[in-house]
Amino acid sequence: MHEHGIAEELVAAVDRSVHSHGGSGASKVVVEVSAGTLEEQTLRTAFDIAKQETTSSDAELVLVTVAQEVFCLQCERTLPLDVHADQSAGPPLCPLCGAVATPVFGASGVTLKSIEIEV
Ligand SMILES: [Zn+2]
Repeated sequence: MHEHGIAEELVAAVDRSVHSHGGSGASKVVVEVSAGTLEEQTLRTAFDIAKQETTSSDAELVLVTVAQEVFCLQCERTLPLDVHADQSAGPPLCPLCGAVATPVFGASGVTLKSIEIEV
């Protein structure tokens, strides 16, 4: 599943960060989730499974939902995507002019924002 792969990548990224800072573990992991790209509850469950036996095992997962952004070549601007529009049919469309726009986020829709490291 999509969310499980993302959770494993997050845990691996936290692990690398904790080790590079000489910490013993992470207490809090803040992740930005692009609206509408995945199931938050599924991601939480996947994170809880993936974090076991890792430096993230005691970490609290904080999910911050942000509007997905697209870059429109026609408008030459980055714009928040209309989350109410039906995006399942194809590529995202510019909320201003309706042209096909490029998502700013990567395919996963998840960005690791900050980690609180325990020493
Ligand atoms: Zn546009």
